[in-house]
Amino acid sequence: MSALLSTAPRVLTALPLAIDPAEVLRFQGYKKSADVPGPDVRALFDEALALGRSLMAPRAVVRWLPVSRQSADAIEAGDATLAIPDVGRLWGPVEWIAAAVCTIGDELERRAAELWEARELPLASMLDSVGSGAVESLAEYVNDLLCQEAIPLGLPVTNRVSPGYGSWDVAQQRALFGVCPGDAIGVRLNEACFMTPVKSISLLAAAGAGARVDHYFSQCARCWMRDCAYRRTAAHKTVHR
Ligand code: SF4
Repeated sequence: MSALLSTAPRVLTALPLAIDPAEVLRFQGYKKSADVPGPDVRALFDEALALGRSLMAPRAVVRWLPVSRQSADAIEAGDATLAIPDVGRLWGPVEWIAAAVCTIGDELERRAAELWEARELPLASMLDSVGSGAVESLAEYVNDLLCQEAIPLGLPVTNRVSPGYGSWDVAQQRALFGVCPGDAIGVRLNEACFMTPVKSISLLAAAGAGARVDHYFSQCARCWMRDCAYRRTAAHKTVHR
């Protein structure tokens, strides 16, 4: 196993993040291919995006850890047991996990709340969607960054999973934060395991020579790493500015 992946938590700031408009519009109820927004919606989106960009501070904390044990429904690394249903089949054999917490901070949600109070509902709603789209793009950005770190070592990286999504219990946020605490970027868990600021995403991915990643061409499709010998499909768009 390579020892070249950093096992210390690392804070990433000043990330050159591009926000995917389709992701923002998805939060407004648009389906990616079928619905085309009209000029009014597009203008509102542009206004909310400009406002949102001035209010968000994308940052992330990431940490790699070697896997000490893997079973059909769990991965052990460090002191943590990450109980993820069916992970053995979904990811195949993995040698490393990467845990990360990402946030855009709380300024945007505060401004959106003020706009709701002032009954500026369309802008408030679109600004909230910009925040949701931004933090999703940030999580994709971090996922791609992790692959760029591991792939030169011959270790493809899986797609991300998050506690509370799919079949992974939200209570596992505590185990994930045990691996990679969010304090360094100001993200905390409440009693119900929800994060503050709200526009935050915690994620787990894994790397291994035999990791199952072939079902996930969309990762390569948005990755900005040029000349990657492992690229599985051409880049179509990117979350890198
Ligand atoms: S092109 Fe694909 S395999 Fe290569 S670093 Fe990017 S996401 Fe990973």
